Formats: sequence, structure tokens, C-alpha cells
Amino acid sequence: MRPKFIAGNWKMYTTLAAAKELAAAVAKGAPADPNIRVAVCPPSAWLTAVASVLKGTAVSLGGQNCHFEKEGAFTGELSPAMLLEAGCQYVILGHSERRHGFGETDALLNKKTTAALGAGLKVIFCIGELLAEREANQTETVLDRQLTAGLAGLTSEQMANVVLAYEPVWAIGTGKVATPEQAQAAHAFVRGKIRTLFGEKVAQAVLIQYGGSVKPDNAATLLNLPDVDGALVGGASLKADSFLAIVAGAVR
Ligand code: PEP
Repeated sequence: MRPKFIAGNWKMYTTLAAAKELAAAVAKGAPADPNIRVAVCPPSAWLTAVASVLKGTAVSLGGQNCHFEKEGAFTGELSPAMLLEAGCQYVILGHSERRHGFGETDALLNKKTTAALGAGLKVIFCIGELLAEREANQTETVLDRQLTAGLAGLTSEQMANVVLAYEPVWAIGTGKVATPEQAQAAHAFVRGKIRTLFGEKVAQAVLIQYGGSVKPDNAATLLNLPDVDGALVGGASLKADSFLAIVAGAVR
């Protein structure tokens, strides 16, 4: 049985005080259940402070982005090693806000993913179609391209450190959640594509989170779908109560 993995993406929200308080409340309320994994991904400026709060707890820490180089003249960027040293186990890569807001391409995300895994981070690799792509029946084509190009050159062993997050762009921050049928169909397609690329063992083991307006009232339904192994949560991760209610929806 695959564990359920719930991660909170705090984006560019929280003050330092709010971030520490939120992390402490999540750590306090997260269930001591080996089948439930929980992570929070604060803004990079708060990573070390949140790492101190989470030390010794079951909640993991993630960054929201990284560069692919080890170091250099890249103003404003963070290397994978810096995230590790700040206390991160995870980094989110390929979030739609990076793909569509900052022009990150499949090729760039492949370099970032390779570098992050090489440095020892686990990667939450986001994929998902725009509304126009869904309406044009292009969802599977888009997912196929994002997976094939984004994960190119990775080994089956490296895939043990990759979590996929299917996040239909039209559902992110919009309150429009995918129906259970839409989510399950996309997740089954993604798992099938991973089977083609990396084989049955990797396909059975890989965790595929759903993201896009996950809230306490829809979490349990989504999290009970056979190919949904967790959630990547934006807005509802900014309040401990709502995030922990989503986590509770993953308890079986
Ligand atoms: C996200 O940012 O990954 C996300 C899914 O946001 P929200 O839950 O707010 O839709």
C-alpha cells in the first residue's frame, strides 16, 4: 500500500512569525501514522526558521523552487545544496505558477530536477494542463510531454525520490476542483506513462498527488481515489485547521 503524502505550498504568503506559528501547529496536529507523510513548503526566506520549528517532528520541509547550478552569479536564485543545508528534504519543481508565470520550460525543469536529485533532495514534480488544453482534449498529450521531457534521463532508482503532483491549472486557486472522475482518469494516465517510461515497479511505487482547490470538504473523496496518493495544497495550507483537516482526510 502506498502512503498518502500531503504537502502545503505556502507560496509568497506568511510573515516570519506566522510561518513559525503555522509550522508549529501543523507539527502538533499531524497524525503519528506511518502511512501519512506531511510536508510544508514555506517561502525561502523562512526556511531555516521553519526548519528549527520542525526539528524532531514528523513534518518535512520543502523549498518551492531551485536553480540547476551548484553555485554562481545567479542573482536571486538558490541552489539545491542551499535548500538541503537550510533543512529541506523536498523541493517543488514545475509548479504551474513557475511554468506559466516565469516561463519555465520542460527542458529547464529537467535540468532542475536532475540537479535537485543529484544533490540529495526529493522532488515534487508538478504537471498539469491549462483549461484551453483540457477543452481541446489535449490533457493527455500535455501530461505525456511534461513527463517525457521533464523526467528524461532519470533512472528508476532516482524515481524513488520523485513525487508527481497532477495539478490541472484551471483548478489552482480557483475553487474549481477536478471531479473525482477527472482526477482519477488523469492520475491513471500518469501512472501508465510512468509504467511505460520506468516499468511496473516504479509505476506501482510512485506517489501521485492531486493539487487544485483541495479543501477539507473535498479532500477525503479525492484522497480515496485509487491512483491519488496525496495532495499538494495551496490556499488551504495557510491555516493549520484546514490543512490538518485535509491531512485527516487521508487517514484510512
Ligand atoms: C497549488 O498551489 O499547488 C495549489 C494547488 O493551490 P490551491 O490549493 O490554492 O488551488
